[in-house]
Amino acid sequence: MDFSLTGEQQMMVDAAQRLVQKDIQPILDGNDRDKALPKSAILKIMEKAAHLGLTAARIPEERGGAGLRMLEYGLISEQIPPSVALILQPHEATATRIYFGYNTEQKERFLADLIAGRRIACTASTEPDVGSDPRGVKTTVTEDGDELILNGRKQWISNATVCDVMNVVCRTAGGDGSSRVVRVLVETTESSFEARELDMLGLRQAPLGEVLFDNCRVPRRNLCADNGDTARLLTLTWLANRPLVGLMAVNLAQKALDAARSYAGVRKQFGRLIGSFQLIQQDLADIETAVITSRLICYNALAAIDRGERANGLSAMAKRYSVDSCDRAIALAMRIHGALGLSRELGLEQLARDVRTISIPDGTPGILTLIQGRELTGIDSFRA
Ligand SMILES: Cc1cc2nc3c(=O)[nH]c(=O)nc-3n(C[C@H](O)[C@H](O)[C@H](O)COP(=O)(O)OP(=O)(O)OC[C@H]3O[C@@H](n4cnc5c(N)ncnc54)[C@H](O)[C@@H]3O)c2cc1C
Repeated sequence: MDFSLTGEQQMMVDAAQRLVQKDIQPILDGNDRDKALPKSAILKIMEKAAHLGLTAARIPEERGGAGLRMLEYGLISEQIPPSVALILQPHEATATRIYFGYNTEQKERFLADLIAGRRIACTASTEPDVGSDPRGVKTTVTEDGDELILNGRKQWISNATVCDVMNVVCRTAGGDGSSRVVRVLVETTESSFEARELDMLGLRQAPLGEVLFDNCRVPRRNLCADNGDTARLLTLTWLANRPLVGLMAVNLAQKALDAARSYAGVRKQFGRLIGSFQLIQQDLADIETAVITSRLICYNALAAIDRGERANGLSAMAKRYSVDSCDRAIALAMRIHGALGLSRELGLEQLARDVRTISIPDGTPGILTLIQGRELTGIDSFRA
């Protein structure tokens, strides 16, 4: 076993860091840190991110995607500021779902623009009454000649207010028990729906929205040919998404570690550097341990997916462990800074808010625990 990066992997990491420094951070810094980025800024980032494969990591190269291995996708993603990763990952996961689930004509119509980062995509599953159990979606789709009509409400949807294409998980209306969960691609250029921004605790530069479909008409050609795969495809993308979200937490905790380490080397109390106190050294050691174990547990899950192994438990474990550990690590880093750690100016409080925000999407800690428990025992605690 070799834990070092290959030359090619190191080049990918370096390229991602250059992208952040040159193209992403200036855009984040140039916009209000408490407001969702405007669509024009997101499209600028998307276009550049497409060159690194971040818009189509899981689509094979011969179909225009990046065809990245999941570990490489994770290595690159880890470098991206989470408020941008939370825009890019739902977009990429939606492109992946279109690639694996929709027909050839639909792929040809949508994928080229999504891969190039010229249009923005998202997936809308969650509803006001439907969260952890997506099979319960209530948004309905009915047929009317060459059109479909959507009715319902979606909530907490990444990119909802800036997207061009929304992959909507909905239910055919069938009162006789024949109702099925299906997917429909809704394009903002041809269908009308209301979308409003939701104000969240953290990652506020990433747009998150609520959507209302009130007799929203969609051409029938946008219906995903149903092969009963909706739940399986959502799960497949969640498998890799979970360690990718875990690596967002690592990105945040690494920043907290860097800040705490520097501060411990300059701040003096009782006539000595605080870094010379054993309790501060213990906090620093705990923060570093959290960062390294979280990083490794996420890489491990992604590498298992690359090897084609069953990774349901590993991927759930990776997200839950890393978000939790990094949350504690950031809290320790704030404590090392004393009052300064709580100031808006320093920005550590933003890391604390951001890490809390990613604990929910792609599986709450409770749901991830139960997925891991199901892998360990073979017993499904969700459904009898
Ligand atoms: C930043 C962010 C981005 C998001 N992006 C998207 C997106 O792009 N698309 C999308 O469709 N959704 C998105 N979501 C929504 C997200 O997927 C849901 O919030 C998540 O699935 C949880 O659903 P919920 O909030 O309704 O909580 P609920 O499912 O209502 O859960 C509430 C609590 O009950 C617990 N719980 C639920 N069931 C069980 C059980 N069986 N046993 C024990 N405990 C249980 C949960 O762990 C949680 O603590 C996003 C959310 C956030 C915060």
